[in-house]
Amino acid sequence: MSLSVIASARRLVVKVGSSLVTNDGRGLDHARLALWSEQIAKLTALDKEIVLVSSGAIAEGINRLGWAKRPKALNELQAAAAVGQMGLIEAYERSFRAHNLASAQILLTHADLADRERYLNARSTLRTLLALKVIPIINENDTVTTDEIKVGDNDTLGALVANLIEADALIILTDQPGLYTADPRKHPDAEFVHEAVAGDPKLEEMAGGAGSSVGTGGMLTKILAAKRAARSGAHTVIVSGREPDVLARLAQGEALGSQLIATQAPMAARRQWLADHLQVVGKLVLDAGAAHALKAQGKSLLPIGVLAVQGEFQRGAIVACLDESGRDIARGLVNYSSDEARRVMRKASSEIEAILGYVDEPELIHRDNLALL
Ligand code: GLU
Repeated sequence: MSLSVIASARRLVVKVGSSLVTNDGRGLDHARLALWSEQIAKLTALDKEIVLVSSGAIAEGINRLGWAKRPKALNELQAAAAVGQMGLIEAYERSFRAHNLASAQILLTHADLADRERYLNARSTLRTLLALKVIPIINENDTVTTDEIKVGDNDTLGALVANLIEADALIILTDQPGLYTADPRKHPDAEFVHEAVAGDPKLEEMAGGAGSSVGTGGMLTKILAAKRAARSGAHTVIVSGREPDVLARLAQGEALGSQLIATQAPMAARRQWLADHLQVVGKLVLDAGAAHALKAQGKSLLPIGVLAVQGEFQRGAIVACLDESGRDIARGLVNYSSDEARRVMRKASSEIEAILGYVDEPELIHRDNLALL
């Protein structure tokens, strides 16, 4: 059998479903949380970076409020999420602290990831937390969600987070062993899928709506999440969260669950996305030194190398980088608005704070956000 993709993955998003976290809706499963935290601690000791996406706020809220069944009204679901999220975070915080790991709560909505400025902010906060070896624990910000802005299920949220931080892999811990060619409860001849290509249309045909009643995502949302994660080069593993030592065994290369392989490497996928983005709203003219640093050395663009700023744009916009002869050499997601960029151009990054009164980032465009043409 093939080796698990998790063995060589360095940055991981681990998504845990509601039914696992809350013991099928009966209340937070502290023992299981402790086991995952212990394994995550082992993974961080192996120098892997872990972001946890955890469901269970609504299920735990319903439990804490003593409600007999899941309400239908959005405002009641939101109230339950607000109550349950407290319990979730409290339990994770305690179990990570037992392994000397700090954790952080991050609540996101779809609108946060669709807006380029908020996207960059979320990205840099997450990267900073990872650099500090803190475990970010993410859930959807259910309090402010409406149908228009919600992600809706945490499988998709996990994939969006994998895109956001360019994770190498997304692990979806669920209450099933993985993916079957058909629903095994109805089709006894269903076969287990050990490995497939993420985004293969056959997978979507196979996964007709199998799932549990505690969370929101069935197998189809997991397959679609894998397809989405693969867009930024992340592989996905769908595996049972009840499998003993599951994360540590995956990290050792044991091929547990179903692995859905991304066919493009993370950086190549991101650069492709940037290069395909034709909506360029501004231009930066670079001096020869900066043009060389970008093209020949793969470096970030610093304000000091910019001779002129053309057009009006906001932080997070896609801008073209031109050399002195006007040749389009790269495009990228810019960290400062056009007004700010005009004020800091030709200046050293160390002067940004004195000029603007704050520093978003020392680079005008980080190299990870640059696509060379
Ligand atoms: N945000 C929801 C919760 O924490 C979970 C959505 C899902 O399970 O996919 O309850």
